[in-house]
Amino acid sequence: MSKDCIFCEIIRGDRPAEFVYQGDTVVAFNDINPKAPVHILVVPKKHIRSINDLTEADRDVVAELIFRAKEIAKDQGIARTGYKLTFNVEGGGGQIVFHLHMHLVGWK
Ligand code: 5GP
Ligand code: ZN
Repeated sequence: MSKDCIFCEIIRGDRPAEFVYQGDTVVAFNDINPKAPVHILVVPKKHIRSINDLTEADRDVVAELIFRAKEIAKDQGIARTGYKLTFNVEGGGGQIVFHLHMHLVGWK
């Protein structure tokens, strides 16, 4: 957990969010500024700064992000119509929140 991280605050329950999933390893909540009818952030509970900071110990976390996204897409009714899974990496890649997260974006 990082004291000054807004996603750690959400995970701790210190900042409100519309959760769509809460598990042991990963949580998912609606993006505050959605770019599509479905725009969910799938976020590891562990504070990992970016894709560049992943270690071998994080392999299971990364797998869980993708498997959970697949289930959430199904729950949201966009599995067959289709969706995007995106990581923005560092400033040049559009990352503004430095707690690893995957965007799940889809159109119903
Ligand atoms: P990035 O550009 O870092 O990949 O994406 C960060 C995302 O977090 C943005 O799409 C932004 O709208 C979202 N975001 C920023 N602050 C908050 C917040 O306090 N709550 C929620 N739910 N989303 C946030
Ligand atoms: Zn964090």
